[in-house]
Amino acid sequence: MIDLGTLKGSSFVVLGLARSGLATVRALQAAGIDCIAWDDNAPSREAAAAIGAELVEPAKIDWPKITALVISPGIPNRLPEPHPVAAAARASGTPLICDVELLARVRKAARYLAVTGTNGKSTTTALIGHILKSAGIACEVGGNIGRGALDLEPLGAEGIYVLELSSYQLELLETFHAHVAVWLNITPDHIDRHGDMAGYVAAKAHIFDRQKAGDCAVIGIDDAYSRAMQETVAALPGVTTVPIALDRSVAGGVSFRTGMLIDADGYVVDFTDVPTLPGAHNAQNAAAAWAACRWLGVPREVIVEGLRSYPGLPHRQERVASIGNVIYVNDSKATNADATARALSSYRDIYWILGGQAKEGGVAPLAPWFDRVRHAFLIGEATELFARQLEGKLGYSRCGDLKSALDAAHERSRREAGDGGTAVVLLSPACASWDQWKSYEHRGDAFRGMARALPGAQSLGRAA
Ligand code: ADP
Repeated sequence: MIDLGTLKGSSFVVLGLARSGLATVRALQAAGIDCIAWDDNAPSREAAAAIGAELVEPAKIDWPKITALVISPGIPNRLPEPHPVAAAARASGTPLICDVELLARVRKAARYLAVTGTNGKSTTTALIGHILKSAGIACEVGGNIGRGALDLEPLGAEGIYVLELSSYQLELLETFHAHVAVWLNITPDHIDRHGDMAGYVAAKAHIFDRQKAGDCAVIGIDDAYSRAMQETVAALPGVTTVPIALDRSVAGGVSFRTGMLIDADGYVVDFTDVPTLPGAHNAQNAAAAWAACRWLGVPREVIVEGLRSYPGLPHRQERVASIGNVIYVNDSKATNADATARALSSYRDIYWILGGQAKEGGVAPLAPWFDRVRHAFLIGEATELFARQLEGKLGYSRCGDLKSALDAAHERSRREAGDGGTAVVLLSPACASWDQWKSYEHRGDAFRGMARALPGAQSLGRAA
């Protein structure tokens, strides 16, 4: 846990008492710092009360005495409607911050490497953490992934905090300074919270705030918003920008394509056979990790080894089992067509399990990859919509639930792929999970367990 002792004499309101909020309360309490807490949700309040948090009704907060409101990034503070506590804080001139800002205020000697982007944040953050650890560099990995910022261990001047930061968190920073900022890509997302694309880009752009001479900005430049951002950041005096681009070389940058990257000096890394980094999207993540780690002085061969030994994250094209030459892949995190497109483009001879709660547009945009799919197995609420969208283009079966779909995909792949053929049974639902599951993790964990329990299955990857 992070010691917040140097903030003594301050007074905080903590709004939102889930993972990061509870960690903030714990850290403030441990340092003997004044703190009151609130959550609209009664069970969350009870969890906070159980750790000794002082709960105060929003209307009773004495704002002039408060140093800052530590707000959970998931709670709207402007759009679509500001939470009343956020509105009251702003009206009283009280700053709104998040736990990452508190970390930055107390661990000033350490360096910070921040990762943002619409897609690939968790993968890139985990990959960088993995490489730095294998290089023997003291680092702590967290933020929007894994542990909250104040649950991390204290690091000194030799240490690096590797933090995944969402647009919501980036808007709640005042002094935080990324020595290395990694910007992967940007496509429309979270418009309800940011008003429009310009608002979303502006929120993400806070990752470059306070960067100065000697710092580094790694920027994926394969979309127009990110290219414009690179031009802006390149103008910051003394900040080294490293562009990352698909299939073309850019001065001082890293170019990538599926399973391959080429750095500014023409050094080529081939990781086509690394199963935890499939597809061009993961090559973008690998190229960004490469650039960041090179800038931190990690030797090339250590990074290459890190890419090769990267264990992957659960639920993101996670290889969970094999039966003969048929691989079972859990991509439960793919809750929209865009994410599923990445998975379909990474394999051939796919037995595709999809469905759940459909997103706008369904699976119609995935037609360019249908020739990679041998058969589709439909589950959940989206079944009839997807059946209409696949009709005449791709063979499908209505399976109802995940277990029936997996059994049907297993049986069909055994029959068609035979003992020698290769194929992939892929859960990449292109849908939210809430019609049948608590979360995408719940759905993915179930798939992993069921796949490993199939007759003849060999477990692959992590034990979880
Ligand atoms: P995030 O943390 O930004 O949600 P993840 O690393 O968890 O990203 O990846 C989530 C999904 O996003 C992956 O399963 C994959 O489908 C897709 N994805 C990952 N990296 C990229 C990328 N660089 N560009 C586009 N899509 C990506």
